Amino acid sequence: MFKSSYKLATIWGIPIRANISMFILLIFIAWELSSFAGAWAVPFALLLGFLLFSSIALHELGHSFVALKKGCKVKGITLALIGGVASMESVPDKPKDEFQMAIAGPLVSLSLAGIAYGLRFAIYSETNEFRYMAAYFFEVIGFLNLLLGCFNLIPAFPMDGGRVLRALLTPKKGRLKATYIAARIGKVLAILFGIYGLHEFFLEKETYGIFKVAIALFVYSGADNEYKLVYMQEMGDWLQDDEPQ
Ligand code: ZN
Repeated sequence: MFKSSYKLATIWGIPIRANISMFILLIFIAWELSSFAGAWAVPFALLLGFLLFSSIALHELGHSFVALKKGCKVKGITLALIGGVASMESVPDKPKDEFQMAIAGPLVSLSLAGIAYGLRFAIYSETNEFRYMAAYFFEVIGFLNLLLGCFNLIPAFPMDGGRVLRALLTPKKGRLKATYIAARIGKVLAILFGIYGLHEFFLEKETYGIFKVAIALFVYSGADNEYKLVYMQEMGDWLQDDEPQ
């Protein structure tokens, strides 16, 4: 049967799977590389893919590490196009715990970016071909992790920054209102980004525009789902509180 994700490894008892979209991305990278890397396109794409998968997995393991420390159970990690998802059996409801868990992923990514850029400058050489290529790979990894860290720090759902913002707003506004605000910011940003992508695709005939539209749709539905989920939870709690003893 057609599966949407495939298991790659298990770390700390957490199964790590890759969504089918990641394999499509690998083929796309190989295709892009083939214009200048020739026969090296496939091994280069595999190496880049491996580094990309690892970067995302480490980001998610950052969240998972804090989650496990807080006594939450992590069901699994799925690597997907715009990063990964660590599915938790329960999420910490204390804002302080949610804050720490949410910020851990971007902190891992930004640390990896710092290390990769450091190595890139340390080994770069114009005369040594091997060091030149290795520096190129570290630069790509540094950039990917910087992007992963910064993108996820955007203070809106479904990014990690949305959780950070909710954790900061919850003590004052309550969890539902805080989620509403962080989800609303996500939806507005998604609409703007989607319009930008459509503009690029149709008016500037830029193929990449369609990826921006896909990201916008992903962000919009992620923000919408998060709010609906919390709304249902709050309603559930409210109904339970209301039950006659
Ligand atoms: Zn994250």
